[in-house]
Amino acid sequence: MLPIFHIILGLILVVIFYFFGLNFLYAILFFLACFCFDIDHYIYYIFKKRSFNLRKAYKYFRFDLNKNLKKGQKKIEFLFIFHTIEFICLLFLLSFVSPIFLWIFLGWIFHMLIDWTYGLISKDNKKYKRAFSLIYYVWKNKKRAKNLKK
Ligand SMILES: [Zn+2]
Repeated sequence: MLPIFHIILGLILVVIFYFFGLNFLYAILFFLACFCFDIDHYIYYIFKKRSFNLRKAYKYFRFDLNKNLKKGQKKIEFLFIFHTIEFICLLFLLSFVSPIFLWIFLGWIFHMLIDWTYGLISKDNKKYKRAFSLIYYVWKNKKRAKNLKK
């Protein structure tokens, strides 16, 4: 899902919340959480391609997914750190500490609802999959690297 859709939908929802009395700080945090977590795509790109070029990163995820499939590979697996179960658990637990984290958590949930909905209706989703867990991703790739050495 393009960030602009997260921004527009987040803005619509936060204006409604604000209209019903949500305080300004929580409204801003909720709104930022609606789209800022997609920064993990850029973080992934930086580590994978060893480049800080934001334009190329955008192009990579927007247009080049097919080009990056290796021969015989059906899907690319990405690790988007803020889209993992560990991150949501951390935010969920922090939401009990302070309402600040609660509104960040709720913004993240809204972000993910949009991502999942888009994933169901989009063709792009068939080209890649997201690692649901950081621990599982690391474990699986360590195992794969071990098997390649043998
Ligand atoms: Zn996302």
